[in-house]
Amino acid sequence: MTQPTAFCADQIFDGNSMHEQAALLVRDEQVVEILPQSSVPSHFRQWQSTGDMIVPGFVDLQVNGGGGVLFNDEPTVAGIETICSAHARFGTTALLPTLITDSANVRDRALAAGRDASAAKVAGYLGLHLEGPHLSVARKGAHVSDFIRPMDAEDLSALVAGRDQIGCGLITVAPENVSAEQVRALSKAGWNVSLGHSNCKAADAFAYFAAGASMVTHLFNAMSQLTNREPGLVGAALATDPVYCGLIADGIHVDIATMKVALRAKRDPGQIFFVTDAMSPTGTDVTEFILGGRTIYRRDGRLTLADGTLAGADIDMMSMVRHAVNVLDLPLEIALRMASTYPADAIGVPTKGRLGDGCDADFLMLNKDLSLQSTWIAGQRRYETEPQGA
Ligand SMILES: [Zn+2]
Repeated sequence: MTQPTAFCADQIFDGNSMHEQAALLVRDEQVVEILPQSSVPSHFRQWQSTGDMIVPGFVDLQVNGGGGVLFNDEPTVAGIETICSAHARFGTTALLPTLITDSANVRDRALAAGRDASAAKVAGYLGLHLEGPHLSVARKGAHVSDFIRPMDAEDLSALVAGRDQIGCGLITVAPENVSAEQVRALSKAGWNVSLGHSNCKAADAFAYFAAGASMVTHLFNAMSQLTNREPGLVGAALATDPVYCGLIADGIHVDIATMKVALRAKRDPGQIFFVTDAMSPTGTDVTEFILGGRTIYRRDGRLTLADGTLAGADIDMMSMVRHAVNVLDLPLEIALRMASTYPADAIGVPTKGRLGDGCDADFLMLNKDLSLQSTWIAGQRRYETEPQGA
């Protein structure tokens, strides 16, 4: 869209506050500013929102797949495009395709695909998340234990060299298989380091946070828990203010009361943010798929191995925001921030997850009942719901 456009809506949420009867001014893929509708300059084309409100597009830092594609199976630009467009249908405008534990060869292919997707400016692609293989076997979840291993010098140099030009980089590691020194080196190379799939003691977690780890991956799931005399990774993350925590808020991975306790415990500047941990079925009707050679069953909102182990989540970001408002009783503004502003802050991208001056024009048009009307990335409409009755 070359012509500057003023997107008008009853309400516009900029990630910080709600503006009534406002206009979002967009020029050259970026937000210019938010003004009262009565003050829109005449050279801006006016576009009336089809929904009741405009909000920042969602940012999802953990997306294993979507649209029938699992990133591990298709670590290619085409695979990334399919995943990004599948999630745009649910309001996600920036995501990290997430590679779970696999061989070094697949990791290298994923890094190459990330570089190419970044160069090609694939809409919705923000960077890569490597979840494994340097995790704890004791907390492997659905990861294939044969591939789980300590990080060696070769891995570290491949990761440091591969960090360039992929956009954002997030890596989940466990202290059991990665040294604090390696975390320091990864962090220096520009990786956001997250602790996860770990049975570590709180003392180890504190040391790794001091070494540069700044996040934990899916808080509560696949990690040492908070108990009276040993706070575990959960306790360490909640007690360390600047640390950010991803959370799969589908009501299945973590009990609602547990989520409420964590939300009360977590203090600024770190925040709890939503991740979907979505797999290939998102946006499709498939009832089973193969992950690491094993069948995953999709039933009653769950994805599980035959033995019942959870293997990612069967939820999209729009549903998670609705769930947060309706079941977790979160104010809408907080739920929206947890899906957009906080993950953008966690990964250090101030131009995403909010609609302030100079931010990327990634936004959604929503109805009051939190149904999605349309998804816009860099000022371009990428998805629109079918008109009712069509
Ligand atoms: Zn995981």
